[in-house]
Amino acid sequence: MGALDYGKYTCGGMSALTMLLALGGCGIFAEPLERSSEHFRFSATSATSSESEMQEGIDRAEALYAAIARILPPDVRLDPVIDVRLNGNLRRQVPHVDENGTIQLWRYSAEEGGYWALLAHELVHAITFDAGVEVGALEWESLGFYNEAWAEYVGQLIDPGRTGFPFYGFDEDVVVGHWVSQGGLTLAMLRESHGALNECWHQAYPMRASWYRYVDETYGRQSALDIFYGGREMTPAVVEEILDDSLAVVDADWRTWVLARYDAHPGADVQTAAYRARIGQYRPCG
Ligand SMILES: [Zn+2]
Repeated sequence: MGALDYGKYTCGGMSALTMLLALGGCGIFAEPLERSSEHFRFSATSATSSESEMQEGIDRAEALYAAIARILPPDVRLDPVIDVRLNGNLRRQVPHVDENGTIQLWRYSAEEGGYWALLAHELVHAITFDAGVEVGALEWESLGFYNEAWAEYVGQLIDPGRTGFPFYGFDEDVVVGHWVSQGGLTLAMLRESHGALNECWHQAYPMRASWYRYVDETYGRQSALDIFYGGREMTPAVVEEILDDSLAVVDADWRTWVLARYDAHPGADVQTAAYRARIGQYRPCG
């Protein structure tokens, strides 16, 4: 996901008794845990994970690393070793890649995939972190939209069985199609106001991923890769040059494609209702 900051969970402001009871959960008496593999260094404490859970994560991460490497162009340099920090049960912070390129994870419910709910997505961000820093990509104003679009789309490609955010096991055609058919947010808005509208996450993450799927399937893998790994900031002019179409046309055609897929999906109405019930607390933007 993006670098949403919900503030830090602290152990402050407790009574002495509460503090004693909470010490274990805050990790004060916890032992550090570390586990490494060819491409990963997992760290946690005995309060936030266990040896067996970390091994499960390492095995998954190595499989995902290999799957991403098969998709990326051979000339893109992958980070040789990626740090993954396991921070305990999900509270106020959400998984993200920090300023050092470390994947910070929190544990979702088992139903949503636990610690690994967003691992594929975060790993797409982290696997080329060093190369991105070198070309100055973190400073690019237009990076946000494409960074999140590509991470979520590739996450779908390499880990299609995910049951957590943002699709919760529902079909991409249903989730995206129903958001588009109800109007509101557009891709142009998501590109222009990435920081603010990223918080409309139930709409933003699926819509952006779907746009990248459309580009990949319509314009070809090379065009999809050129946008993200071409070494140039993905300004509208650069993306239009790569696709040889205006973004207005690409977005309009994507919309038609999305709505057709929704219409063709058996039982889309029933699944839409179930999906909206699943994210019931969410107030749509736009
Ligand atoms: Zn992300």
